[in-house]
Amino acid sequence: MPTAFMCPLHFTRARLLITAAFRMIATLTVCAVMAACTTVSGTGRKQFNVYSTSQENAMGAQAYQDEMKDAKVIISGPVFDRVQKIGARIATAAKQLHPEIANTMVWKWTVIDDPNMVNAWMLPGGYGAVYTGLVNFVQSDDELAIVMGHEAAHAIARHGGERMTQDALAQLGASAAGAATNSEAIAQGAAMGLQAGILLPYSRKQESEADELGLFIAAQAGYDPRCAIELWRRMQAQGGAKIEFLSTHPSEGTRIELLQQQMPQAYAIYQRTRVDGTATDAKDFVDTKPPSR
Ligand SMILES: [Zn+2]
Repeated sequence: MPTAFMCPLHFTRARLLITAAFRMIATLTVCAVMAACTTVSGTGRKQFNVYSTSQENAMGAQAYQDEMKDAKVIISGPVFDRVQKIGARIATAAKQLHPEIANTMVWKWTVIDDPNMVNAWMLPGGYGAVYTGLVNFVQSDDELAIVMGHEAAHAIARHGGERMTQDALAQLGASAAGAATNSEAIAQGAAMGLQAGILLPYSRKQESEADELGLFIAAQAGYDPRCAIELWRRMQAQGGAKIEFLSTHPSEGTRIELLQQQMPQAYAIYQRTRVDGTATDAKDFVDTKPPSR
């Protein structure tokens, strides 16, 4: 006698977890086939991202609100004006080079008063922040633009959604391993293995990609890309785990080598965009052509 129906109570907890995990894998696979394979603007790298830009931007807006709760924000004065001026030029350049994604972003640059924080970030959707510690650390607008370009590049390349997708898959893999053996220790080990084997190197790739895209964005905005190498050396010497762009990078040598490879093209963009050797306003650059890549 055929028994097509099987009472759910007969499933063990582990089997239920495995079933749930495989359902999620199946769902993610369908998502992947339908929409999740995207291409990074500027580098052409294929990335796996189950989130839409509107979902990413909404999450960016929410995370920004949370970050701002305890932040001491500066809303006027010379430091604020300086960051806004550079930020506006970075936004204009990004829209010229990456219109499809950059035009969906709000391009907000908040200045946070924290002299001990040599840092900046930009969340998905263009919610950016620059700390006064970074403004004090840099020696020129060019250097500040290199860092802000790098942070903007993370949002342009949709690294947030990509990273969240990777984290979700890592958790899924870990819970499947745990369900199969009913062992929390193995689940934890699987999560650590996934992080070491997949997430960390990928994250380094994202950092290198942000370096490359950010360099071209800063150059397109009329800032001298050549200061990037010296800036990274000084940053490295300063150290500190709070600095976003030092957190998961390959060795300094590898990073400098990559920047040097990209420098001729970045410098050519800079030469094309600057006016009389000194860039003064974003509107001076609206006629520049995006680089052929
Ligand atoms: Zn970074």
